Amino acid sequence: MTVTERLLRVFRVDRQIDGLRSRLRAAERFLAQQNHQIEQIEQRRASLESQLRQLQAAQLEAEGESAQIEEHIEVLRERMNTAKTNKEYKAVLAEVNTFKAKKDELDTRSLEMLEKIEQIKQQQAELVAQAEERAKVREVAESDREARAEEIREKLAELEAARAELVREVPPKALTVYAELVERLDEDAMAQIEIADKKRHEFHCGSCMMLLPVETMSGLLSHGRLTQCPSCGCILYVEESDREIMTSTKR
Ligand SMILES: [Zn+2]
Repeated sequence: MTVTERLLRVFRVDRQIDGLRSRLRAAERFLAQQNHQIEQIEQRRASLESQLRQLQAAQLEAEGESAQIEEHIEVLRERMNTAKTNKEYKAVLAEVNTFKAKKDELDTRSLEMLEKIEQIKQQQAELVAQAEERAKVREVAESDREARAEEIREKLAELEAARAELVREVPPKALTVYAELVERLDEDAMAQIEIADKKRHEFHCGSCMMLLPVETMSGLLSHGRLTQCPSCGCILYVEESDREIMTSTKR
């Protein structure tokens, strides 16, 4: 078996391992998204809660102040009733009016704050509902991730054991080249040589589609030598079914 054939066996197992892992990765990503959304909901809830507490305190303060002014106005009214002169009466009346205006202002603000408090409570209720909904989705996502992990566990162990066996049969130098390519090109680390034009004897790299010079292919075709695409650098291989077409002499 040639070095390219040995590497190809490793590559094919790697593709299977990657395929299995990608299913788990998708489930993990989905779960992470749910966790992130739940965190955001919690943050919004906390922020609303502190807004609510501030507003409630301010509203109570306004209400208390208003009550005090009301009491003061009552006292002033009694003084108006016992006023001895018209001048005194008018002076107290002016004071009453000033306090009334102040009280009105406080009452208006207090009402506005009460409305805002109701709005915030409404928003909080909505967030609680959202959080409950999201928690259900997360639960499903969690059990899905578990199921996926369980599903692939055995197969993954099998493939990894098989890979370890196959790797032992690849010369270390070729393995280093391969590992670097996987790092850079991932699933395109190896590519099949494809037939571009059978009659004109033209072939291209299955990954980057560049036409391959005959001299690039000859070492691979005759000895299975480790051959990289001059353009993208991937390790090239030949499907057995195509070999005859590629090795047939040009007319
Ligand atoms: Zn290429």
